[in-house]
Amino acid sequence: MLKAIIREPLKLKVIETEKPEAGKGEALIALKNIGVCGSDLHVYHGVHPCTYYPITTGHEISGVVEKLGEGVTGLKIGQPVTVMPQLFCGKCLPCRSGMYNICNELKVHGFQTEGVAAEWFAFPADMVMPLPDGLSFEEGAMMEPLAVACHAIGRFGDVKGRKVAVLGAGTIGNLVAQAALGMGAGTVLISDVSDFRLRIAEECGIPFRTNSTREPFAEAYAAAFGPDGADVMFECAGAQQTLDDMLACARKGSAVVIVAMYGKRPEVEMSHIQEHELTVIGTLMYRREDFVSAIGLLGGNKVQLARLITHRFPFRDYEQAYKKAAASKDDAMKVMIGV
Ligand SMILES: [Zn+2]
Ligand SMILES: [Zn+2]
Repeated sequence: MLKAIIREPLKLKVIETEKPEAGKGEALIALKNIGVCGSDLHVYHGVHPCTYYPITTGHEISGVVEKLGEGVTGLKIGQPVTVMPQLFCGKCLPCRSGMYNICNELKVHGFQTEGVAAEWFAFPADMVMPLPDGLSFEEGAMMEPLAVACHAIGRFGDVKGRKVAVLGAGTIGNLVAQAALGMGAGTVLISDVSDFRLRIAEECGIPFRTNSTREPFAEAYAAAFGPDGADVMFECAGAQQTLDDMLACARKGSAVVIVAMYGKRPEVEMSHIQEHELTVIGTLMYRREDFVSAIGLLGGNKVQLARLITHRFPFRDYEQAYKKAAASKDDAMKVMIGV
């Protein structure tokens, strides 16, 4: 079978290797689609803070259960599935408290342990999630980023009727905005520096949009939310400017959720956070319940995933897919690999 392997930064090869067996407690999955994620590109470019080489990336996937290993129940042969790509210890305090997404020993497939970029992968069956009926395999491969969005919102709490600002309209920002609307948010504003990404946000039904290279974010924020401002803001861009815009606008006593990863250590006006009594909330990945919320949103037709897919590549062109995703900030959103 074919498998993609990054031997060292900027050296991705598709190699021929042996097809795996479903071991005890595992499901053998025949892959259908693999989404390219920004963090995969960090690995490819050698700038991911926590990975190793050689490594196989791939953590946003869909496929079909082909075989079940010993002791696996609850999954069926031929069932369309996605996976939750986390390995956790089950023993540390976060795990014992149910917060296994922040396990002290957390390993994520494609970063700290082998990813799923192959024609087949034997995956721990209890981290395999059946896909709802009527979903395409491409949409199935986007359950993972949607679960990221659901978890980020869940970290704040109920957004029903609340005013929500999202900074950054890439895949995650777009899905945070869409999921917030799907969960009943009253008003949602999304900002970006790319008209292309904002056009996709518009097509996904996000009511207020602003390009912060043309309009000061504070003006768009005031126009969308009025003098009382937003109840919660999600920073999904990971830039100094968006962080500054967010903190400058956050109304007193509100919450800000840090969804993005920061390459460089940003400067933060701590006294502003202190005197505005802002609640700063971190968020990492997701847990099973976030996949359940994601499935609920999709079942209710509350979120559009297909519109985010801008490019498709066959498995053999894995490296071109990464190059396209990395090079095209202005015409690529989700790049999808077909297996
Ligand atoms: Zn990802
Ligand atoms: Zn743990």
